[in-house]
Amino acid sequence: MTGYFSRWCVGLLVMSLAPFSVLAGQDKSVNDSAVKVKWGYKGDIVPERWGKLTPAFALCATGKMQSPIDITQKIQIVPHGLSWQYQSAPMIIMDNGDTPLNLDGHQMIINEGHGVQLNFKDSPPREMITFLGNPYRLVEFHFHSPSENRWHGQSFPMEMHFVHQGKAGKVAVIGVFVKAGEANPAIQQIVENLPKVEGRPFTIKGKRINPADLMPHGKAYYHFKGSLTTPPCSEGLQWVVMADAITASPAQIALLRKAMGGDNARAVQPLNHRQISFSAEEN
Ligand SMILES: [Zn+2]
Repeated sequence: MTGYFSRWCVGLLVMSLAPFSVLAGQDKSVNDSAVKVKWGYKGDIVPERWGKLTPAFALCATGKMQSPIDITQKIQIVPHGLSWQYQSAPMIIMDNGDTPLNLDGHQMIINEGHGVQLNFKDSPPREMITFLGNPYRLVEFHFHSPSENRWHGQSFPMEMHFVHQGKAGKVAVIGVFVKAGEANPAIQQIVENLPKVEGRPFTIKGKRINPADLMPHGKAYYHFKGSLTTPPCSEGLQWVVMADAITASPAQIALLRKAMGGDNARAVQPLNHRQISFSAEEN
């Protein structure tokens, strides 16, 4: 992807039919209330303006449990409740892709617009985690640069988001900070197979990726409630941010940043009344 147009994205969401129920039966097209609005990280569609672009994005401005956040305080120590059942999967890579999610019973198609995304098949569901006793399936992971969440004010060159679908409209995202250091073999596979065409998934023949290879060795994590960091900024997500970072080489970070069209990070949002918990690694 190249040039200015890679830096904005189209948010597509299928809203609840409730606001339009009065029109049901009169005009079918009204019930198909998909909203497409451009949003991005530069110009007049920057994150600070998302909430004003369309009423469908209002939560970006008015939400009280928004992501990302700065992980600084109000930390409560709780037992560890996260395990991974990830395994090697076909490498399906996409630039500027749509992701279907069920969030609190709302079927949505979100477009993270982050430029580089890896998708995982849902049948059979294989790349699983268990979080607080509930199973979740890995739908996709993608990159932000610089990091969106912060740790005591500190930003990292990149952050990965692993987006998981649970039952009954539950969504859990695992954030992994990426710092500059040793080259990362799993990230190298990705930078060598960056998609050349937007909006279409490519299965890279003969290549597989195991998301476990992109998790830090330390399993301690922070947990809090939050939102999508992109429009429509829907809330009710379980957020897990790993305490330890992984590394990627400066060259790998530069290549991913270039593929994503530069910065794609929303600023940190107020914590408000949320609590951040911390779980040390299980022995
Ligand atoms: Zn993200």
